[in-house]
Amino acid sequence: MEDAGDVLIVGAGPVGVFSALALAQTGVSVTLIEAGPKILDSPRNAVLMPSTILIFQELGILPEVEELAIPVTTFALHVPGYGEKFLLRYPEMFGWPIDRQLHVGQHLFTGVGLEHARRAGVDVRFDTALVGLRQTGDHVIAQVESGGERQELRAKWLIGADGGRSTVRGLMNVTFDGFTWDNRFVATNIYLPFERYGYEPANFICDPVYGGVVALLSKDGLWRVTYQEDAALPGETFMERLPERFDRILPKGADYVIDSASPYALNQRAASSLREGRVLLAGDAAHVTNPNGGMGLTGGIWDAMVLSDVLGAVVRGEADEAILDAYSKERLRVFWEVASASAVENKRMQERTDPAERERDIEGFRALANDPEQGKALFAYPFRLIGDTLRPESRWATIDLTRGMAMGAKSSQLSTSRT
Ligand SMILES: Cc1cc2nc3c(=O)[nH]c(=O)nc-3n(C[C@H](O)[C@H](O)[C@H](O)COP(=O)(O)OP(=O)(O)OC[C@H]3O[C@@H](n4cnc5c(N)ncnc54)[C@H](O)[C@@H]3O)c2cc1C
Repeated sequence: MEDAGDVLIVGAGPVGVFSALALAQTGVSVTLIEAGPKILDSPRNAVLMPSTILIFQELGILPEVEELAIPVTTFALHVPGYGEKFLLRYPEMFGWPIDRQLHVGQHLFTGVGLEHARRAGVDVRFDTALVGLRQTGDHVIAQVESGGERQELRAKWLIGADGGRSTVRGLMNVTFDGFTWDNRFVATNIYLPFERYGYEPANFICDPVYGGVVALLSKDGLWRVTYQEDAALPGETFMERLPERFDRILPKGADYVIDSASPYALNQRAASSLREGRVLLAGDAAHVTNPNGGMGLTGGIWDAMVLSDVLGAVVRGEADEAILDAYSKERLRVFWEVASASAVENKRMQERTDPAERERDIEGFRALANDPEQGKALFAYPFRLIGDTLRPESRWATIDLTRGMAMGAKSSQLSTSRT
């Protein structure tokens, strides 16, 4: 049996990689295993919100991420059925670097984090899949498969950051509660000069047919276009239906080139607990949400930062293990009350068919665009994903610049309720 140090992390997605980097920076020894041969590069999250930008600044990787990213300071809400478009500008609330969002592929910013994690001493192993685990009084023993061979790795703690279909979660005694939507999401990356057709670099389209997101992804003109389809249709043939769908949602007569596309089941689910003894869950392994509003990755990266801080303190003997139960409770609260609640409301709003409700949305969007205070609350909303950072000594304890800011009764970024 091989010793894998203080913490074994399963999954080199953004949550695993940034947990590894943050732990290693505070002197914790980490092994990171990933089933695939490299970081996954299918179309996924592409928008980094200010609360994530602050993390990258604190971890010391922001300049390298900025080199790969497009800074975006506007956001457009389109309601095509009513011929409406509202333009919102990022408020200069807190100044650089969070007076903007950054558009960059998930695999690119995760790659930057991985190089820094390696340099900080993390032992990174690709083509290594976790297949089983057991716990002793003071260790976790993981069974892993690599190149057709099985071996055991022993660590004091294990973080399951192995995504929505988490093997780690499946090996824990927890349930994965919530519901699955009856439509699926398709994320595509395509070349098409959207700027010629009235689109901003970031667009949210409210329409039961055309609804989705259009966002500029790279400096060479690659864009993300998303749409939804009935989940009863066979998932493996989604590419056959894509041309017909694009005929309906893309500008008429526009010539496009498809770079990549990927279907994605839509769920609102979370594990009943994020801790079982020495095993912890973070990111999509802990909870999954529909991606309307970009809550999934932003919330997952905040799991990673809060967990690496409290687990690091436990490893160094500075905090009692009970803080790990507090981690589980607080991150589940943040998921259900902030991330999931907001994503559900954004999705329902996008698909609305009732004209009276749509008129009310439009009035709300007009207010968001014209009232600077409401605009600020929209862009500040994702800071709620930081939640309680659990230790006064945490490196994240004072990072929430919106603490104390009035956000009224907002239940999603786009909701216009104010009390
Ligand atoms: C198509 C699509 C579009 C999305 N769009 C957005 C968006 O616009 N905004 C947003 O905020 N979020 C979006 N998301 C969600 C976002 O990508 C996820 O929240 C994010 O990837 C979660 O990161 P993670 O590190 O928790 O998991 P993942 O990124 O899923 O990483 C998990 C890793 O674990 C590895 N792994 C799995 N099992 C094992 C095992 N047994 N052993 C070892 N390794 C294993 C996997 O290979 C993978 O590399 C999107 C997701 C998809 C799929």
